[in-house]
Amino acid sequence: MNDILYPHVNVKIVGEDGNAFSILGRVQKALERAKVPKEEIDAVTEDAMSSDYNHLLSTVMNTVDTTGDEEEEDLKVCAWCDQEFEDKYDQSSHEPVFCSDDCGVQFYKD
Ligand SMILES: [Zn+2]
Repeated sequence: MNDILYPHVNVKIVGEDGNAFSILGRVQKALERAKVPKEEIDAVTEDAMSSDYNHLLSTVMNTVDTTGDEEEEDLKVCAWCDQEFEDKYDQSSHEPVFCSDDCGVQFYKD
């Protein structure tokens, strides 16, 4: 049975800072990187914070995959050509990202 909400999103819990806010922060970042809508991230956050630490952990574990190896998924989708590419510059997920400078130029052109 696999009822994890976003099984493709991987967040390592074991061996990392076990602080509730730190865990939640990493989950939010991972979800943002996976382009999960902000309302859904907010809903997860609200649910996770609605009770005690154990509830937070179980919410996190039902939301993202916490069992796999930490795998830095640096693939982004180019805002211009829709291709997946490796984000060498660790560009912020809030900004449009591009596979090449050319695509960036095209995107910002009138
Ligand atoms: Zn591109």
